[in-house]
Amino acid sequence: MDNKIRGLHHVTAIASDPQRNLDFYVGLLGLRFVKRTVNFDDPGSYHFYFGDRRGTPGTILTFFPWPGARRGIRGTGQIEATAFAISPDSIRYWLERLKQQHVTAERTSTRFGEEVIRLIDPDGLLIELIAAAAGVSPANIEPWPQSPVPAEHAIHGFHSVSAALEGYERTARLVTESFGYRLVDESGNRFRFASPDESVPGRIIDLLCQPDTAVGRVATGSVHHIAFRTKDEAEQLQWRKHLVDLGYNVTPVIDRTYFHSIYFREPGGVLFEIATDPPGFTFDEKVEELGRHLCLPPWMESSRSQIEEILPRIEVPPTS
Ligand code: ZN
Repeated sequence: MDNKIRGLHHVTAIASDPQRNLDFYVGLLGLRFVKRTVNFDDPGSYHFYFGDRRGTPGTILTFFPWPGARRGIRGTGQIEATAFAISPDSIRYWLERLKQQHVTAERTSTRFGEEVIRLIDPDGLLIELIAAAAGVSPANIEPWPQSPVPAEHAIHGFHSVSAALEGYERTARLVTESFGYRLVDESGNRFRFASPDESVPGRIIDLLCQPDTAVGRVATGSVHHIAFRTKDEAEQLQWRKHLVDLGYNVTPVIDRTYFHSIYFREPGGVLFEIATDPPGFTFDEKVEELGRHLCLPPWMESSRSQIEEILPRIEVPPTS
């Protein structure tokens, strides 16, 4: 495979109450509500997308809010933590903000020289804010001016994800030999791999080797899958062929309206997706209006009134 992976496209997790999810990620963490749509495989429930002003790949955290769904169990075969990047000058601001809002958070020991704040979202999802030594190129991220978080302390897209695995070698082989990532650091059972493209958000994946940990269960409060980015549909088809040739079971290309997707399970059990950068979230809303309307894919428009009736009412938290 000549093409390489630049970094993450999005991370998708499972929540329970949609309003609480929205309040936390928009009202507290200050991400933009980029898209309000439904789960295409279950149109009676929402699919929320949060990110920077435009929903740039590498900044997008998405949720399926399933009211009343059971809680997941942390363990191997899943993403243990999803980390966002912040400025090293923002550690104190965030510790104070999280404390004021009664969020369970702690400053952990530094990781590869960077400060880390760990926090738990209302559904038990583990989120980290990492004071990134190297910032992403401002050309590759667009701050959201209406964020309730002041611009100097804003989240700058993903820093990394940490995957908890029984063993890490086969996953390491996939991300290095196929994706083009390199082992850039290691400490204890944590092995850090990064794409060579230092300009983009979300270029790091940490593989945690945890042979003594039980297999987890993906449900509320856990990451459902992570998506890596590819530049277009032609390249995505090359990825599909490459992965099939390596022996992976890969889904056909699925139209997710804002990107096209293929999915496969990596050797450690985490569900991986490869998603196209285009067409992006301005496909059906202007950038100024992202997140304002319930957006449905064309094939669901005829059922709009029934879908709107079933979906729980939500209110977008006030912005600055
Ligand atoms: Zn996805």
